Amino acid sequence: ASNVSVKVAVRMRPFNNNEKVAGSNQCILMNKEHRQVVIKNPQGGEDKVFTYDYVYDSCLPEEDEDYAGQDTVWGDLGTELLEAAWAGYNYSLFAYGQTGSGKSHSMVGFGEARGVIPRACEAIFEKMRGGGGNANEGDDVRYKVEASMLEIYNERIRDLFVPMNQQDKGGLKVRDSPSTGAYVYGLKKIPVVSYSQIERLMAFGTKNRTVAATNMNETSSRAHTIFCIAFVQTVVNRDTMKANDIRSEISLVDLAGSERVSRTGASGDRLVEGGHINKSLSALGNVINALAKNGTSKGKKKILVPYRDAVLTHLLKNSLGGNAKTTMIAAVSPSDTNYAESLSTLRYADRAKNIQNVAIVNEDANE
Ligand code: ADP
Ligand code: MG
Repeated sequence: ASNVSVKVAVRMRPFNNNEKVAGSNQCILMNKEHRQVVIKNPQGGEDKVFTYDYVYDSCLPEEDEDYAGQDTVWGDLGTELLEAAWAGYNYSLFAYGQTGSGKSHSMVGFGEARGVIPRACEAIFEKMRGGGGNANEGDDVRYKVEASMLEIYNERIRDLFVPMNQQDKGGLKVRDSPSTGAYVYGLKKIPVVSYSQIERLMAFGTKNRTVAATNMNETSSRAHTIFCIAFVQTVVNRDTMKANDIRSEISLVDLAGSERVSRTGASGDRLVEGGHINKSLSALGNVINALAKNGTSKGKKKILVPYRDAVLTHLLKNSLGGNAKTTMIAAVSPSDTNYAESLSTLRYADRAKNIQNVAIVNEDANE
């Protein structure tokens, strides 16, 4: 087992049209070398400085040497993801930030600018074809890849690989297993043998999501979307015929917008959703705070982590303070019109740095 801190990346998107038209100013600056983010208070208050594991400035001109595009992000996070998968660690990546800040851009991407999820799927199949992995000479390796995709919407879990009209109205439930931790009972896990198959599944799941328009971003999802890859390597020794399973669960989480409800002008149904989103994201905040306190209190009595307060945190239990290598990517706008939300995102991300996970290799002999 190895003690690992949650890694935190902050990514700043370019100005969008509304921000340009409004003539807004840039209130966040990044320093790649020192991995620092400076946020300036537009009312002339004090500057705040934060340091993270990675800072990605996508607001610079693309030709700038410090510009961070999809390749840059994948270059860092992809290496860690693949290493974890092959070594048999659980890995999770989650994107946090207000609606329109660039969470889905980093996770899924748009068109040619593919994000982490499609790149990860492709890279896994590519690496499998390349062989190697944990095999020694005289070993045979077999691989199994299964994909699942779910959405948490108003505290209900929906299987995104099941068509809307065949969904159970009450939603699926999280259960705890002593060996593998929290999981969704009855969630469809689809065995996949190629990247193009995963791509088709993802397209189906994405269309199947619950999307509702808000003032801030017409296409934004008010739900949390989680894409999971279960990766198993079976290593068989040709002489003894003994087989070993090395398992890795990869969870890629695109969280709902973190903005406060009042900003989006929500009313009626939307307001109920907003409440729930706040509930699960504030539960996530409470879990992060508790874990951060435990992470910094050396040897002192640990406080209870309130995983059970929301479906999201219950399900993410393995990834937060549990058995996983975890990275959080916090997305921010450069504009001073979003100052308050960006500051709250940077603070949230700052606390997440203190979480300690204990990552254990998932390996068992199967006689
Ligand atoms: P979120 O998922 O957080 O609501 P999106 O990922 O949908 O936000 O991003 C909002 C808009 O900003 C999209 O049109 C997206 O293409 C654009 N965008 C976000 N991040 C970047 C980036 N790093 N570079 C270029 N465009 C971006
Ligand atoms: Mg999104």
